[in-house]
Amino acid sequence: GSDAPAGEASRGRRLAESAARVIPGGVNSATRYIGEPYAFVSADGAYVTDADGRRYLDYHAAFGAMVLGHNAPVVNDAVRAAVDGPGLIGLGVSELEVELARRVVEVIPSAESAISTMSGTEATFQAVRLARAVTGRPYIVKFQGGFHGSHDAVARNVISAPERAYGRDPLSKGILDPALDATLIAEFNDLASVRTLLDRHPGQVAAVIMEPIPHNVGALVPTQEFVEGLRALTAETGTVLIFDEVITGFRHALGGYQEVCGVTPDLTTFGKGMANGVPIGGLAGRRDLMEHFNHTGGDVLLAGTFNGSPISSAAAIATIDHLRANPDFYERTHALGQRMRDGLSAIVADLGIDATAAGFGGVFALYFAKGPIRGYRDLMRNDNSAYVAFHRRMTEAGYLMLPMALKRNHISGAHTAEEIDATLSAAADVLAGMRKD
Ligand code: PMP
Repeated sequence: GSDAPAGEASRGRRLAESAARVIPGGVNSATRYIGEPYAFVSADGAYVTDADGRRYLDYHAAFGAMVLGHNAPVVNDAVRAAVDGPGLIGLGVSELEVELARRVVEVIPSAESAISTMSGTEATFQAVRLARAVTGRPYIVKFQGGFHGSHDAVARNVISAPERAYGRDPLSKGILDPALDATLIAEFNDLASVRTLLDRHPGQVAAVIMEPIPHNVGALVPTQEFVEGLRALTAETGTVLIFDEVITGFRHALGGYQEVCGVTPDLTTFGKGMANGVPIGGLAGRRDLMEHFNHTGGDVLLAGTFNGSPISSAAAIATIDHLRANPDFYERTHALGQRMRDGLSAIVADLGIDATAAGFGGVFALYFAKGPIRGYRDLMRNDNSAYVAFHRRMTEAGYLMLPMALKRNHISGAHTAEEIDATLSAAADVLAGMRKD
């Protein structure tokens, strides 16, 4: 695929080598680079082009930061206008950050009040600290399969091997044991596992934090009974229910997955697609909780030089306004997602491969395991190496997906039915080839 003359390193390879001399490992985020391609030089709608001029149909979407498609003109124009207007001012309050909060309160069912951060990690960090401060309790519960950013309170047991499922399985060295031990691990779609933890630590659990669909392990869709049960259980025990909608927010419905399932959490975190590629995070929820951030009367510190950035706010406003004005975005992406899932299901059934297409809305995953895939134990049956082989061959064919098994792929507002069908026909060839090997 490279247009470099034979015998010469590709431009991407040369960039990777020079990057590794000044950036550890050549990347600024651990999952950025796994194999080729290394660097991208342009992006437009559903397509991206790598440093060697190769074009890909993109389902990676910068881990889901793209919702409308790359370089959506409405968003980029709004960013340019913000640069020319309030610019980078962060000394007082910009009208843009107020306008953004107003929109979040209007469209998100659980949002009575909202703050802006610069990343999803900061949003979940603030949510967990707020829950601990308000309840005066030390523990939080997270689920196997849930990822909520890199900070210490949530950086464990994202998807543990069975022997470490309930042991301490940190994402990183350097985290103090007491921080890890204050995070308890439950199983998604298993209400009893949450009840057990709440019973074992009565009056000691500050919050349950969950991705309403854990897209960090593909797409475990919650049963209605599970989300409603969690709501009832947390309400009964005075535990703060946090929906981490960093991926699901704005993508699956304007009001997030909470709008889809009709269950209202106490706090909600946002990030990624909210500003269609411009850095942002957010936290919204019950006013009585959020008022603890009130610097004139509250007791929880909220600080961040770039919080409420006019540039990020402008991008988020433009994204939300575009989605509000074009509700058919959801019909379209949900239909294209279904077309992809149905197509993949038919291909693997035809070929007799033990694989399962899963997902919700415009998000799809291909598990290399017999379905249904509902929870942690089902994920353990996945043949991760088969996905890695599938990913590599799809990349070679010009289709960019997330490189790790147990992740998801994204259909944006810029994808078309023709592109889904072309992807399916490439996937059919790739899967047939894999079966032969
Ligand atoms: N929550 C979820 C559900 C995420 O997927 C991520 C990022 N993958 C985060 C939080 C952290 O967001 P950020 O990378 O912006 O810090």
